Amino acid sequence: PIEEFDYDAFNSQRFTDAIIDRERTMDISRVLYPNDTTFEGKVLRVRQQYFFCSASLQEIVENYVRHHGTDLNGFAEYNAVQLNDTHPVLAIPELMRILMDEHGLGWEEAWAVVSKTFAYTNHTVLAEALETWDIHIFDRLFPRISEIVREIDRRFRIDMAERGLDQGTIDYMAPVSGNTVRMAWIACYASYSINGVAALHTEIIKRDTLKEWYAIWPERFNNKTNGVTPRRWLKQCNPRLAALLDEVTGSDAWVRDLTVLSDFTEAGTDDVLTRLGEIKHANKVDFAAWIKEREGVEIDPDSIFDVQIKRLHEYKRQLLNAFYVLDLYFRMKDDPTLDTPNRVFIFGAKAAPGYIRAKAIIKLINAIGELVNNDKDINGRIKVVFVHNYNVSPAEHIIPAADVSEQISMAGKEASGTSNMKFMMNGALTLGTLDGANVEILEAVGADNAYIFGATDDELPELRRHYDPRWHYENVPGLKRVIDALTDGTLNDNNSGWFYDIRHSILEGGYDPADVYYVLGDFAAYRETKDRMAADYRDQKAWNKRVWANISRSGRFSSDRTISDYAREVWHIEGEPIA
Ligand SMILES: *Cc1c(COP(=O)(O)O)cnc(C)c1O
Repeated sequence: PIEEFDYDAFNSQRFTDAIIDRERTMDISRVLYPNDTTFEGKVLRVRQQYFFCSASLQEIVENYVRHHGTDLNGFAEYNAVQLNDTHPVLAIPELMRILMDEHGLGWEEAWAVVSKTFAYTNHTVLAEALETWDIHIFDRLFPRISEIVREIDRRFRIDMAERGLDQGTIDYMAPVSGNTVRMAWIACYASYSINGVAALHTEIIKRDTLKEWYAIWPERFNNKTNGVTPRRWLKQCNPRLAALLDEVTGSDAWVRDLTVLSDFTEAGTDDVLTRLGEIKHANKVDFAAWIKEREGVEIDPDSIFDVQIKRLHEYKRQLLNAFYVLDLYFRMKDDPTLDTPNRVFIFGAKAAPGYIRAKAIIKLINAIGELVNNDKDINGRIKVVFVHNYNVSPAEHIIPAADVSEQISMAGKEASGTSNMKFMMNGALTLGTLDGANVEILEAVGADNAYIFGATDDELPELRRHYDPRWHYENVPGLKRVIDALTDGTLNDNNSGWFYDIRHSILEGGYDPADVYYVLGDFAAYRETKDRMAADYRDQKAWNKRVWANISRSGRFSSDRTISDYAREVWHIEGEPIA
């Protein structure tokens, strides 16, 4: 705030007015990504975006001027701005503004700088995530940015007409359509590089999401598979495994270059496999104590720890996992002698503030936990744990203790995923669809060392054409009972109607078609694969062989590899050794 406190207002007994400006200013950065369900929320969100973009660019430009002088034409030789999704795309018109209005460049000069500065990373193919704004919000909040966006649009239309594009394509790709500003299209037009975050995802944006852009500028498109840092996600969170890696590899060089582990794929001796088992068990004992303290649930470290931790979204299909748990529960009730290892199903997830169905799914998982955890017949053979307030801190406790990594999104929808990589490094086996970076994990470890199931991205369009979720409900073993349990009184949603809505979305649809994310379609394959995985767990030596295959081949999923790929192929900069 420019003024912390309005003394005049306070001294005139307008006490609230004295702090109103300060509070309104502080609201901009009080919460990252504020709820944008309402109009007021949208305005706050876009104010936040502009605030961070403008502040960052002002600092970058000031730094350039300090080192290279006031002629900004050479700006792009020293600066690259990587747009992390569409949230910071306002930086494009904002840099135009700074270059023209504060540093005297003409439009063409400024645009030449801008189009050598920005590179865009796409993070999702979900239509609702490609941001658009009503231009009247821009008009009101920052009229100069509005003016620049309209001018980008005007010149874009001329540029495309000169390239011979038809009017329909131009209207589809234009930065402004009617009163709507499309941030992803501005990013694609202004950026010299456009990348996806896993090989499959990049193919999908070229083929589908951004195909019009790929047709004109194929050379802009490239893939940068995501990665995770082995400092946090291995050395720090799993000291027992880190010590074993030091020992097996003879040094701690893996901490700085995780790819060295690939020289040790054959180092999984009987002794190493036994120690991997002991380390996992010790981590599970620690986790059991931690979760007892945090959630009050008792779990048995000799059970399979089966984990799904990620944002709650229908495409990630926590529902598929929840249906399996309920189905397993009914199978055990029907047949107390059912021969399967004990399981702990661990979930962690937050729902976006305005996403009611996601909240309903959280409610459902907790209701299933209530039912299963307290059933005397089950006697602890299944436990369901929901970790509240999921974020990186609980993640560091959960991941080292996991046996199974649930990566079960509908194929084609998860851009990359990164928890899949964290789990792999910590010796959990992937149970997943051919989606995002799961494809590359499978390629790295081989089919014997991962549990892959379900419809593929290539198969889904045809499958969906004939898809009848009702048929699956009636005919796939287990499904009818599970789905009926949502509404027949077995589970308690406090009469909110939320579980009825889940059932309805799966069987009937509404605004969307029924079961958009193919939960029932993939259920049979999921159940078969997960049952088989559980059976395989009994052979601990064979299991730990797979664990070692995963750990030792996880090097390519280090964020060090990702960052050097960006440096070399997008920013065109050389690394400097740390002195
Ligand atoms: C790694 C991580 C994610 C990403 O998880 P995905 O399963 O890849 O979606 C989300 N939230 C937290 C707290 C994480 O640590």
